[in-house]
Amino acid sequence: MNKPLVAVLSGAGISTDSGIPDYRGPNGLWRRDPEAEKLVTYEYYMADPEIRRRSWQMRSKNRTLMAEPNAAHRAVAELERSGTPVRVITQNVDGLHQLAGMPDRKVLELHGSARSVVCTRCHARGPMEDALARVDAGEEDPACLACGGILKSATVMFGERLDPLVLGQAVAISKACTLFIAVGSSLQVQPAAGLVGVAADHGAHLIVVNAEPTPYDELAHEVIREPIGTVLPELLHTVRGAGTD
Ligand code: ZN
Repeated sequence: MNKPLVAVLSGAGISTDSGIPDYRGPNGLWRRDPEAEKLVTYEYYMADPEIRRRSWQMRSKNRTLMAEPNAAHRAVAELERSGTPVRVITQNVDGLHQLAGMPDRKVLELHGSARSVVCTRCHARGPMEDALARVDAGEEDPACLACGGILKSATVMFGERLDPLVLGQAVAISKACTLFIAVGSSLQVQPAAGLVGVAADHGAHLIVVNAEPTPYDELAHEVIREPIGTVLPELLHTVRGAGTD
């Protein structure tokens, strides 16, 4: 018999135990500091070499790449390893689900990845680490090595569209899953919020794990406010047990 599909939608709250602050949320760092927001806004980034220089400096200083997965990321990967079909849809760009052991193809990164760079002209991709090594070596605005075009982080900047392929897959998973767990997301930003509605409309059992209330709490079968690092491993352990009955 096919095991039911579990969808895990994760937001900034799952990574705070790994030392990564909420940058993008409604109350995130970017939104509170207009000057910082410019560094991650496509229009400004493309138009102004000085914005790009500061953007690379910021990436070089903040150590997102050094962060390690925490108990919550590991619990999701363990559920997948146990044989339960799991797909992760994440608003995070930190790559911590994959570092914890989730296969790349089972993680949909709605906002892209801070672990890669992409050329804005020829769309060649490469590791962020290599670009930051060039910044550390003195390049202020490292250009694409293939075509000389402007390089940027492979994250979706403000003013950029989400990848329609990724979004389409996220909708398909939300429709197909039997259990939908939203964890560490305020569910106030699209498309994440809408995906919860899609899952609910298609009959998924909905669980919300978040410190603060969300607009979808009333729709949820279960709302959990305890710290994600302790409660998610417990919850997923139960899911695993139910799957083997
Ligand atoms: Zn290029």
